[in-house]
Amino acid sequence: MAGETTTLTRTRVSAGNRNPRYDILFEPVKIGPVTAPNRFYQVPHASGMTNALPRVRAQFRETKAEGGWGVVCTGACSIHPTSDDSPLPFAKLWDKADIQSHALMTEAVHRHGSLAGVELWHGGASVFNRTSRLAPLSPSGTPWMATHVGFMSNLRPKVMDRADILDMLRWQAEGARKARSAGFDIVYVYAGMGYLPYEFLLPEYNQRTDEYGGSVANRVRLVQQMIEVTKEAVGDTCGVALRISLEELRAKASPHAESEAHEVIDRLKDLPDLFDVKMDSSPTDCAASRFTPEGSHEPVIDFVKKVTSKPVVGVGRFTAPDAMVSQLKRGILDLIGGARPSIADPFLPRKIDEGREDEIRECIGCNICISSWHDSVPVRCTQNPTAGEEWRRGWHPERMQPKRSDDKILVVGGGPAGLECALSLARRGYAVTLADKNREFGGRLRFETKLPGLSTWRRVLDYRLGRLQTMTKVDLFLESDLTTDDILEFGCQHVVTATGSNWTTEIYTSMEVPVGRIDGPNVFTPSDLAAGRLPQGPTVVFDFDNYYMGGVVAEFLAEQGNQVSYVTPAGHASAWTIMTNELPRVHQALSRRGIGVTTLNRVTAFDGEAATLAQLFTAEETKIAARNLVIVGLRRPEDALYHALMERDLAGAGIKSVQRAGDALAPGAIVHAVHSGHRVARELDEPVSEELYKLDAPIVLG
Ligand code: ADP
Ligand code: SF4
Repeated sequence: MAGETTTLTRTRVSAGNRNPRYDILFEPVKIGPVTAPNRFYQVPHASGMTNALPRVRAQFRETKAEGGWGVVCTGACSIHPTSDDSPLPFAKLWDKADIQSHALMTEAVHRHGSLAGVELWHGGASVFNRTSRLAPLSPSGTPWMATHVGFMSNLRPKVMDRADILDMLRWQAEGARKARSAGFDIVYVYAGMGYLPYEFLLPEYNQRTDEYGGSVANRVRLVQQMIEVTKEAVGDTCGVALRISLEELRAKASPHAESEAHEVIDRLKDLPDLFDVKMDSSPTDCAASRFTPEGSHEPVIDFVKKVTSKPVVGVGRFTAPDAMVSQLKRGILDLIGGARPSIADPFLPRKIDEGREDEIRECIGCNICISSWHDSVPVRCTQNPTAGEEWRRGWHPERMQPKRSDDKILVVGGGPAGLECALSLARRGYAVTLADKNREFGGRLRFETKLPGLSTWRRVLDYRLGRLQTMTKVDLFLESDLTTDDILEFGCQHVVTATGSNWTTEIYTSMEVPVGRIDGPNVFTPSDLAAGRLPQGPTVVFDFDNYYMGGVVAEFLAEQGNQVSYVTPAGHASAWTIMTNELPRVHQALSRRGIGVTTLNRVTAFDGEAATLAQLFTAEETKIAARNLVIVGLRRPEDALYHALMERDLAGAGIKSVQRAGDALAPGAIVHAVHSGHRVARELDEPVSEELYKLDAPIVLG
């Protein structure tokens, strides 16, 4: 197995077009006994790819190694059944089958000269062991906060005794040895994000009176010993990394150092081969662009390099090479960590290396990727429709299968679905015409990216339009409101209608049965707002779409100077944004703008002076005085063009196929539209298969 063959550090040869300013990004970095071939480090991140999907996982990670990431880590790997995150998807490294399962990934990563890393993980009191039914472990029996529905449990953790601590150290050492057998080059001790070793670091969770509790020197002892046993297990063959969350510790005063974070790092400074530094909770660590700019970790982690001489890696949603170089030159980081930027563009390093920065598909910070983990499914990405599809659908982010004919294709509608479809068809070599009735491309993005916090989402448009504009066999037409006659006369063989969707004024009962509409001169939907029809004066926003739109529209209208009230039948504002780490910030934003939030209520009527509300469970009625009502509820496809076309003599006009993509097929988030447009392009002209995608299976030992 690759573990015995030490590390491959093949030097990658640049195509010669690299901007010399970025040479520093391609310098090798020693991590203990191994050497990263460059400074691009894909830090461990959740992928939803458990040991049940070993081939999906291996190819997902391999694609990043192929794209030039010098280090590619797999996500957290449980070292023992007492660390059982179910129902959330988690990988494990418990037995021989697990070793083989991970070996698929390490071998795949090594094929491209990159190092493979593994984040050995024990969740402590933050997991509830629903499958193993073993008592969760914790320093002092204090449960971890569990406000996320998927995380909640009635089981409280047990207090670890001395034997448990010795077990923990043994599991870590055994996990490290298994990791080495699986071929990993970098093995982690993970003391972050609420997990067990982190719980020992924080005095609120660690109230022990033995040598593992009390002073920082005692609280850090478990982490210290975990690093020591890991080094003993693999130290001369693998780099040993410490991943540590520093947000809470940095906020705590220390009698010995600038903060407890400084003291902890100082006490550990010579032990690991690498420090991987981060924030403490998913909403701050993996913060959405709607509320948090790039580089947000810096004020918390900027001191680490001053305290230790070991290399430091950290993240910041960096997609611009200048920002990366600045992190290195200012002495903040030695390695540029990437999770989301590596999902959105696995080939980001190669593009910089080859002087193709303008081809980078930049992460938009929407956090759909993290929502996949909360949904317990393999990772999805708004910007990169091939993420998670590398093995099961055979989709590569940079390579498309060539066209099968010289057919011409007309794509109607230049929103996310149409743009992605046209670009992917053009990349296959087809002659493509993209037409939109508006004066600009972008579809829903034209309005949505002007809403508070969503400007970064413009990258969905900019990347695609930028690429399309460089392609020769692509014609782009604006202000072209196409009719069926226009299309029949156009002279194409395939038509893709990506004509979007419209928000409606439909409403539901408390039993979620459709119950008609609320219409009137002062009733609006987001489609009205996008068209420039804006309410003036006191406004109720009634949101049962539950994703970002209701909250964002409320913010937008408040920003325009209107008094806004937000009403939802859900338990929180923009309730689904718990999945994208945004929910706490949505509530803060609404409160900051003076927007009153009423949950567990439906709007049942509106007369131009007041909205009538009914409590979801008791039906108790209340009223909110308002001149306008904005309903953010249901969307219906804008598919009239498609249906009208299907009534016509298509064969007579030489048209072989008419399809719908994106919201015109089934309204969804931007991620759905991009995936849909991409899929139509991939499958056009291809033989139809019964098997939509390949099914992976766990490794089973005979
Ligand atoms: P999606 O998210 O599925 O891409 P959007 O609503 O963002 O959907 O985009 C749909 C686009 O289709 C809009 O830009 C709209 O102007 C355009 N469109 C709708 N009907 C026509 C038509 N008949 N001719 C040209 N463009 C159209
Ligand atoms: Fe970035 Fe969104 Fe893709 Fe996640 S889903 S990697 S946040 S673009």
